[in-house]
Amino acid sequence: MANTAERTTTGARARLRPGVVTGADYLALLDACREGGYALPAVNVVGTSGANAVLEAAARNRSDVVVQLSNGGARFFAGEGIADAMEARVLGAVSAALHVHTVAAAYGVCVVLHTDHADRPLLPWVEGLLDRGEEHARLTGRPLFSSHMLDLSAEPLEANIAECARVLRRMAPLGMGLEIELGVTGGEEDGVGHAVEDAADNARLYTQPEDVLRAWEALSPVGHVTVAASFGNVHGVYAPGNVRLRPEILRASQQAVAARAGGGGGPRPLSLVFHGGSGSEKGKIREAVSHGVWKMNIDTDTQFAFAEAVGRYVRENEAAFRHQLDPATGRPTKKAYDPRRWLRAGEEGIAARLDEAFADLGAAGRSLAA
Ligand SMILES: [Zn+2]
Repeated sequence: MANTAERTTTGARARLRPGVVTGADYLALLDACREGGYALPAVNVVGTSGANAVLEAAARNRSDVVVQLSNGGARFFAGEGIADAMEARVLGAVSAALHVHTVAAAYGVCVVLHTDHADRPLLPWVEGLLDRGEEHARLTGRPLFSSHMLDLSAEPLEANIAECARVLRRMAPLGMGLEIELGVTGGEEDGVGHAVEDAADNARLYTQPEDVLRAWEALSPVGHVTVAASFGNVHGVYAPGNVRLRPEILRASQQAVAARAGGGGGPRPLSLVFHGGSGSEKGKIREAVSHGVWKMNIDTDTQFAFAEAVGRYVRENEAAFRHQLDPATGRPTKKAYDPRRWLRAGEEGIAARLDEAFADLGAAGRSLAA
């Protein structure tokens, strides 16, 4: 991979320049997570306010973090007023990436910039971002994003792998990694995914280790892949009892690949990703991380944290959301309805939920940023 930033070593731990990481620095960060037995929260954002809240939470927890955009989040980032949805998805993700590139280093942590699920109809989104990423690399020496995800898990394994290989051939020279999905994560996110109550599909909620091995053998010679393996995880938060997480499936996948790799890469050679982390049992999260998960996606819980905090603020300042002059006192309510006040309440809600995530994942205090 290209674009190695200058690195120094303090003890055994690599120190990286703060800001967006790509190429060798991205790989050093993944290695540090797996070797150190911790994982980073990957948080979906839909605007600068959410992105800033994620960076603020990472900074105060002295942790590195993943900022990511779903296709719908990217579209929203560009604005609902753009008629061409695919154009908006590309422009919104570019806009989000440029914002994070601009401010991330000032927070003093390392940031992985990533895009979430893209199924076949969303390939033009990823390819549009690669067009922009190549242009950005020509101008700055680094890509726009650290990684993208392709989710072709609804297709036969060989078709999934072949398409991932094609796109990865384009990404690897830019110093980018690819996240793939094997098996299906239950639930759906922005229209990509499967209904969790579809009982006939339940076996597919658990990835087969031989499929992981097949994908690893085909793709790792092309470039760096991380695998979203399914171990019963679902998108969204459901009543207890509906989700049965089996992190031992991740261990079996590591063992299959480690045996084939013959010791190169250690006992956990695979980079694994945990989708649908919201609402998961803490013990299962720790177990998944111990099997080489370096990234856990959180969307539903941070959406709720934002909404809950804004809702509380609105209830506590109700007059300001109805009147410019408080009917009880006659005083202007401007200070309370200023968007900076209630958006800030939402940001604080996101950051507080992430304090919990950094602790759950063992990431607090582990930033590699120099
Ligand atoms: Zn997901």
